[in-house]
Amino acid sequence: MEEPSEAIQTVALPRCGQCGRVLRPGFRLRGGDLRCGQHVIQHPAVWKRSLATAAIVGTVLTAINQGNFILGHGFSQQILLKMGLTYCVPFCVSTSGALGAARIRPETPGG
Ligand SMILES: [Zn+2]
Repeated sequence: MEEPSEAIQTVALPRCGQCGRVLRPGFRLRGGDLRCGQHVIQHPAVWKRSLATAAIVGTVLTAINQGNFILGHGFSQQILLKMGLTYCVPFCVSTSGALGAARIRPETPGG
């Protein structure tokens, strides 16, 4: 009787470069470093890019949507709340786009 273990192939699964967790799926940063979901969110490059996008796009959107009111009435609490939410939108979109672009899936046999 033949041993069934001979038919099993070992596949080296990609692991997070920070914690060593197996990536299912994971993320590849610029330069090729691999990260799990927790550590890609904490990576400074992701934060910096998202904050820069939020600063630029949030300012433009605030000027378009609230500019007339701010010039006429100044900054009320309601406007400040709306401005905060306006900056959150491009931050979330930029972060989501960066994670989507960096996402990798481990190769699976036959798939
Ligand atoms: Zn990790």
